[in-house]
Amino acid sequence: MLPHARSIADELVGELQRNGARAEVAGAARRGDELLDELVIVCDRAPSEVAAIVDAVDLELARGEGGLVGTLAFDQGAFPIRFRCTTERSFVEAVLRETGCDVHVAALEERAAARGATLSGLSADADDEESLYAALDLPYVSPELRDDGSLEAPQLISRIRGTFHVHTTWSDGIVGVAPMARAARTAGLEYVGISDHSRAASYANGLDPERLAQQRADVERARHEVRGVDILHGIECDILEDGTLDLPDDALATLDFVVVSVHSQLELDREAQTRRVVRALSNPLVTILAHPTARLLLGRVALQLDLDDVARAAARHGVFLEINTNAQRLDLGPELARRAAALGASFVIDPDAHEPRGLDTLPYGVLLARRARLDDRQVLNARPAPAVWEHLRARRAAALA
Ligand SMILES: [Zn+2]
Ligand SMILES: [Zn+2]
Repeated sequence: MLPHARSIADELVGELQRNGARAEVAGAARRGDELLDELVIVCDRAPSEVAAIVDAVDLELARGEGGLVGTLAFDQGAFPIRFRCTTERSFVEAVLRETGCDVHVAALEERAAARGATLSGLSADADDEESLYAALDLPYVSPELRDDGSLEAPQLISRIRGTFHVHTTWSDGIVGVAPMARAARTAGLEYVGISDHSRAASYANGLDPERLAQQRADVERARHEVRGVDILHGIECDILEDGTLDLPDDALATLDFVVVSVHSQLELDREAQTRRVVRALSNPLVTILAHPTARLLLGRVALQLDLDDVARAAARHGVFLEINTNAQRLDLGPELARRAAALGASFVIDPDAHEPRGLDTLPYGVLLARRARLDDRQVLNARPAPAVWEHLRARRAAALA
């Protein structure tokens, strides 16, 4: 949801800017909130001018409070969009207020008042938000951190260097290993971990040990064919109802990493579901728990799961909890990730991509991780390739010892 909304908003902003206007995405989309109730774009032009510029993108717009309102068509239904029209002088203030959250803006107002100024006055004199924060003697607080009244700007994760959890034609992906690796390289990644489904996911043509061995040869070929990106061989192995894994340890031991996830028996009660997942994490060959709550945004509700127990187990066993950036999932979300981090868990940001374009959602994962206040040390794929290889090698050696 967030990736879709953001990409449409970015297009509209680009269109306005190409026409000489000053424009910026604001609201929950700018803060990286997973579920938005509307998309807000601030622009320094009159409503009639904005309407004329965005007309080309097929939006039905009407005059509304402070600008224009309209509707975007989405797969899941209609979605409101609002253009807040303002002047050049009020642009910075409008972006700030429309971005929110209210508690953050209130804290800024208080700080301005303590200096005998007003936020409106300081904004009017500022070229951009950065200079406004500087005028208040504050570090720049990026939008995803404005969900509380804190005016601090901690050092958080800023980029990822590689990723795991992508699918290929070996299960339900739409391209092969080599094209996926090339796409990862194009996306600027140093490494990519291939993880197709295991056999229990028969609907997805999941792999049994024999096909997994065949895929290994394919991965080897791709390693020779595609230079400039490391290809890791893994699997997304189903967690069976009793918490054992869909493939035997000797098959999993041939891999560089193992992703595990729940795709079936979603309706188990909280105790049974928690026991199931915690048991799976105790297998020392497991590296990552994918989409931990199995929620689908605007679709399936989350599993009945004691996520605190799962986070503690992940921390104990050195398993990374996934921040899955697939637009339908965004799982774990920032609040749950922040809570799990407080219990000692570490994380990995994965696209769960079934085609090259699925990699485009990764920047939102960084945004979600920042909302969860995670730093580089807490996220596996913030590490460079050699450090990741070293970690995985050591972990597998310990599991087999
Ligand atoms: Zn999955
Ligand atoms: Zn997957």
